[in-house]
Amino acid sequence: MARESLRIDNARYVITLDQERRIVRDASILVEDGRISRVGKAGELASSPADRVIDARRFVVTPGFVNGHMHISYAHPVRGIFPDEMASPLEHVFNLQAAMTEEEEYAATLLGIVELLKNGTVCFVDPGSTKFPDACLQAYEDSGVRVVMGECVTDRQAPWNLPKHETGEAVRRTAAFIDKWHGRLDGRLTAWAMPFSPETCSGELLRELKKVVDERRTTLTLHHNSGVHARKDYQARHGCRPTEYLESLGVVGPNVLLAHVLGIDEAEIDVIARTRTAVTMCPITAAKGGRGVPEHGRMPELLAKGVKIALGSDSPNNCNHLDLVRVMNMAAIQYKDARQDTRQIPAETALEMATRSGAEALGLGEQIGSIEPGKRADLVLFDTDRPEWQALWNPVRNLVYNADGRSVHTVIVDGRVVVDAYRQSFADESRLYARVQEIGEGLQARTGIRFPGSRWPVV
Ligand SMILES: [Zn+2]
Repeated sequence: MARESLRIDNARYVITLDQERRIVRDASILVEDGRISRVGKAGELASSPADRVIDARRFVVTPGFVNGHMHISYAHPVRGIFPDEMASPLEHVFNLQAAMTEEEEYAATLLGIVELLKNGTVCFVDPGSTKFPDACLQAYEDSGVRVVMGECVTDRQAPWNLPKHETGEAVRRTAAFIDKWHGRLDGRLTAWAMPFSPETCSGELLRELKKVVDERRTTLTLHHNSGVHARKDYQARHGCRPTEYLESLGVVGPNVLLAHVLGIDEAEIDVIARTRTAVTMCPITAAKGGRGVPEHGRMPELLAKGVKIALGSDSPNNCNHLDLVRVMNMAAIQYKDARQDTRQIPAETALEMATRSGAEALGLGEQIGSIEPGKRADLVLFDTDRPEWQALWNPVRNLVYNADGRSVHTVIVDGRVVVDAYRQSFADESRLYARVQEIGEGLQARTGIRFPGSRWPVV
């Protein structure tokens, strides 16, 4: 069905992220049939007719943001229950996730999407958290968001309550999942293989899943970290480093997206760069979780070797927000501090990871990630008529260092306006908030996973 055509008219700045990284002042964008058809100076496009014209004089326009690792599902109803000092809540996370009902997961997913879109994220990778994709499809469809989904599989005993299957069954389930879901919602839904990690999956399973995605021209993602202890352990078991182990299985390449990737050494960086394997890094989760980015983070070295990196928020109990502008901010400042070197991760690089490079990391670079004719029309209009945007001399620095998702005024996905003047119309937010609070109460009561609510007396 043809979408209404749109003209984003006379924007203060359009940050295109095109090949030359042009920032066009006083710019207009023409959107036809869900795609960007023209980008240029407002005067050049003034006579182009459109069904709807958005007066963008006070807006800075960017491509929609891509969140490369975001566990939707369990976390919103119990966001913030884990005390700061809890090193890893994973044991509880998977028990809470396992306890979700279909209706609960749908409501939590819908809230997650409201938060994502209202903060400018148009596309997210759910690394296999969703148990009821048939129910959640309604939320993806109604909201208009882009989603990358898959079924989390393992075939080894994990220390947590993860779904576990016999190897052949895990392969069959993944293939059937991709065949059922890949390309739905006019291509807004992408289905991948999602083995949890190399520690919870056999080498045979990882190898077979890579064949499944190669045959279907789609992607595989898994959690992957390294570090001194992991290297010692892998050396003893496999005679190589963790990333070299993945290479020995053939589980590397442009259609493999490794998540987190902390603790890798030079040899592992070489494997990732040489095989053009993609990476998602979650800077806020790393910082909040005390993961030691100064010691374990290698984002600058990966970028220097041309590795495509997406930014991720991880789950709403890790980050805890879903605001990619704040994630960009952390990416840009974290390494300056860690290396005591202000040349690390310029604001422009942070924005590239949230848009163009992030889309490329997900294998979606042909479709989204920049504002260029031919790309799908995924756009964010930031309202500069707010204190944090003053004064405006350099829109990229203002965005990454001053602003956050609060100034997201309008969001367009695939040519459809999904957030319009700060409002979305696919969910009844006040009812949804009340329902998600109730779900959180019920989940804690059913699982017995409760923690003292506050260090301070709540009277
Ligand atoms: Zn994860």
